[in-house]
Amino acid sequence: MSQYTEARKRISQADEAPARPKHSCAAAGCPMAGSMAESSHSTSWWCAYHYACHPSDLARVTSVLNQHHDLRDIVNHGRHLLTSSDVHPDSLAGEWQKLRELLAFGGYDDPKPGGSVDTLNAWLYRVEAMLGGYVSQARGVRRKAA
Ligand SMILES: [Zn+2]
Repeated sequence: MSQYTEARKRISQADEAPARPKHSCAAAGCPMAGSMAESSHSTSWWCAYHYACHPSDLARVTSVLNQHHDLRDIVNHGRHLLTSSDVHPDSLAGEWQKLRELLAFGGYDDPKPGGSVDTLNAWLYRVEAMLGGYVSQARGVRRKAA
């Protein structure tokens, strides 16, 4: 079994890693949690990648999120680690290391710990921004073609 396969397996087998966030994004098939809405009365919640997205870009953005499934899974698992009350603080360093290994095996550059990236939250923010960069490219394709 390759190191990549082992790293993915560790993430997917973790008890605390949901296959899909409880409060999912309103975009069809989106694997991310919905965290942004137009108003407090809104019934549709969107992930940061689909929020304010042109309707013609929704499917393309979902496709990019699934294409970069390692980044997607790292973001979802990492956010769960940071927000779940059933994750023991002593296990965070080990879980973070698993996420860093998956990132490396997926072929992505690791935002190195140290400086402003010395916490899981700060590191995860960088990974989310990396995924956002790929999404921005997909959304830009429509604007250039229009
Ligand atoms: Zn979404």
